[in-house]
Amino acid sequence: MTYHTSIKQQLEQIQQADQGRLRKKILILGAGMAGLAAGYELAQRGHQVQIFEAERSRLGGRVWTRKFKNGQYGELGAMRIPAAHDYTRHYIKLLNLQLRKFINFNETTYRDFEETICRANVAGQTIGDLFDLSQRDRDAIKQENDLDAIYIRMMEDVWSGLDEADKVQLFGHGPLSANLSQLDTSLLQTLRHSADTEDAVRLIGKVTVLDNYWQRSTLMFLREEIEGAFVGLEEIQGGTDLLPQALANAPLPDGTTLQDHIYFSREVYSIEQGNQGITVTFKQEGKLDTATFSYVLCTIPFSVLRRIDIKGLPNGKKIVDAIQGLGYHSATKVLVNCTKRFWELDQQGAIYGGASLSDSIARMTFYPSDNEKEKNQAISNGPGVLLGSYSWGANARRLGALNPPERGEVVVDKIRRFHPQITDYIDPEEPYASIAWDQHPFAAGAFASPSPIDLQMFFPGASQPAGRLFFAGEHLSPYTTWIQGALWSALQAVMQIVKA
Ligand SMILES: Cc1cc2nc3c(=O)[nH]c(=O)nc-3n(C[C@H](O)[C@H](O)[C@H](O)COP(=O)(O)OP(=O)(O)OC[C@H]3O[C@@H](n4cnc5c(N)ncnc54)[C@H](O)[C@@H]3O)c2cc1C
Repeated sequence: MTYHTSIKQQLEQIQQADQGRLRKKILILGAGMAGLAAGYELAQRGHQVQIFEAERSRLGGRVWTRKFKNGQYGELGAMRIPAAHDYTRHYIKLLNLQLRKFINFNETTYRDFEETICRANVAGQTIGDLFDLSQRDRDAIKQENDLDAIYIRMMEDVWSGLDEADKVQLFGHGPLSANLSQLDTSLLQTLRHSADTEDAVRLIGKVTVLDNYWQRSTLMFLREEIEGAFVGLEEIQGGTDLLPQALANAPLPDGTTLQDHIYFSREVYSIEQGNQGITVTFKQEGKLDTATFSYVLCTIPFSVLRRIDIKGLPNGKKIVDAIQGLGYHSATKVLVNCTKRFWELDQQGAIYGGASLSDSIARMTFYPSDNEKEKNQAISNGPGVLLGSYSWGANARRLGALNPPERGEVVVDKIRRFHPQITDYIDPEEPYASIAWDQHPFAAGAFASPSPIDLQMFFPGASQPAGRLFFAGEHLSPYTTWIQGALWSALQAVMQIVKA
């Protein structure tokens, strides 16, 4: 069950609304998924688009596949696509990209909590016994053979109090119902309220890694549970960045591609709405320049927009409040490039995909899913990239504070606890690649992550156009933290633009 307008309906409605109207000339700021999707849909309908992108030559924004010289790759940004994400899947299908299963959970991976290391298939007992849990929590873990079972039960308890109308509102941008307003508190508060023991909350925080999100709004996590954000996960074969690249290279009716309309190295400094249109000041080759357009779509994340001057907005205050106040989350990823996939060759339990989890600063270590189906020994004997660490919140900031080689060394040191052999297999030529998204100048954070009240204060105003200045991006959607959010909001903006 989905609680939003499907992409099919949305595209049909755009088509209808656009019929018989004048073609427009639109400047799009940002060549991430939102900017590219909006540009593609507008250009398909004969509108003229130009895209200004701050990066020197890379498009895709927070979709970023890092390729190593040995032919392997890892994802610095988006990596998995849930079954329910119809907007993302629409473009994957349209552009003929191939998907394969993304293994999120795998019984042979490790759990390393409270100084105790075991495989995931026995963690229910081995790790569960270290915590003071009620009998019903122990039963839930035993039944599912998964420590996450307590969290899922609690979230189901919370959402069982919502009716269908609440759920529709949860995926919209209107005012929240009384039921939803009550749940717009921190995740920690909600879990403490419904937990049988304090230790149950500690355990959940560690094994779901949600302790890095304790202060964020419960509504974000309810959305993910209700839509099944971790069900039916798949990944794009060859790397997630094939998606933005394919979108940029797809043919347009006038014989060009979107790529022909992207202007790189144009970092936007200010946006001003005046009588003549919207004037954008940007830096190019060290010099400031300006361009004035009647219609501008801004997909720059609010975390970056915070340092850009925006003037002359008719309903500016609400948007400015959102730009200033919307919470963003931190994430750091550290890739470890290995000469051999030693984890797939483990005689005691080969690991094909999934993640080892720990309470060390590394938190989540993901293994590639690409050899899970074939279990091809030749591939296992060859190189592979571990997502050595995917961390959020304070862990991400602390790891991100180190210089890139040190991040790699710290992560390997933690992984050595359950993979002592790892140091023998790190590629000496190109050992690591990492990104601390907070420090990236054109992201300044990983993704929007609303705190309690943010959804009520900021979203109704921020997603509306300010005159002929339109906004889109994952931060303006009910699917923050996902590509689906960027695409969903892009099509909302396309609808607003064609109607304007
Ligand atoms: C670590 C991480 C893991 C993720 N994992 C997943 C996942 O598994 N699955 C999933 O679906 N999603 C995932 N996401 C989320 C997904 O990547 C984003 O939601 C989506 O890519 C955001 O697209 P966007 O267009 O809104 O923003 P962006 O991708 O940030 O695009 C904005 C663009 O604007 C440009 N820009 C910024 N400032 C300026 C300026 N001043 N002037 C001009 N241009 C500028 C940027 O360079 C960028 O190209 C993840 C994100 C991160 C960071």
